[in-house]
Amino acid sequence: MDEQTARREICRVGQLMYERSYVVSPDGNISARLDGGRIVATPTMTCKGRMTEDGLAVTDTTGKPLTEARPSSELAMHLLIYNERPDVTAVCHAHPPHGTAFAVAHLAIDQPILSEVILTLGCVPLAGYGTPSTEELSDAMRPLIKHHNALLMANHGAVAYGSDLWQAFDRLETLEHTARIAILSRILGGPNNLPTDAIEKLINVREAAGYLDEGARCQACGYLHETRIACPTGDRPAPRSYSPATTNGASKISLTREELVDLLSQAVNNRI
Ligand SMILES: [Zn+2]
Repeated sequence: MDEQTARREICRVGQLMYERSYVVSPDGNISARLDGGRIVATPTMTCKGRMTEDGLAVTDTTGKPLTEARPSSELAMHLLIYNERPDVTAVCHAHPPHGTAFAVAHLAIDQPILSEVILTLGCVPLAGYGTPSTEELSDAMRPLIKHHNALLMANHGAVAYGSDLWQAFDRLETLEHTARIAILSRILGGPNNLPTDAIEKLINVREAAGYLDEGARCQACGYLHETRIACPTGDRPAPRSYSPATTNGASKISLTREELVDLLSQAVNNRI
């Protein structure tokens, strides 16, 4: 990507992220990898809706600033993704409310509820909590980057990446839209998952169409583990569950009064 295009598109993507409330105040950051390896990134402490093309920061491949404007300290997350994924040239990090609600609830977006999401994005795993801008966060994200194009970060937000800025933004938007639909469907009685054979057909279609390659079969999401689709490299991680709220090794769960009453009623009626 050339620098002029990167600067123009970062400002446009930032404006869209701000208008759609994926970020507020100076939240979030966007970057692009230029031909030759330098990085153009959003400057620190700047609202994404009010950036100017000449106000962006440029760094070398290690994040060292080459301009007066300094990048966000969260650039480390972007550099990690560029290191792990040579095919990626753009990264968008934001705190979109519905996707971030999943991250705060310690849930991955990994239920097979929407055919087009299986076709184009795949599942979105949850990386455990790490302090922003530290190695802790990088360590939590690293194992998930290779086979996923978007991640949730516990108690923080979301990051999506792709071969250009629009693909990275589109993936972030799909993540947020899916999270919103998943939450709304709960109000209507709960989502219905696609059956296993339908998932297998969708995976065949996405590979034939070139939306996602065979590497996406190795995603760490629950529904792929239920199919007969094999991970070609054999390194599919186990489905991740993240539950830090434990006492003496026992997981704690919490229920609302309504959920508890419903559960007890079902038990009394022998429905569970
Ligand atoms: Zn953040």
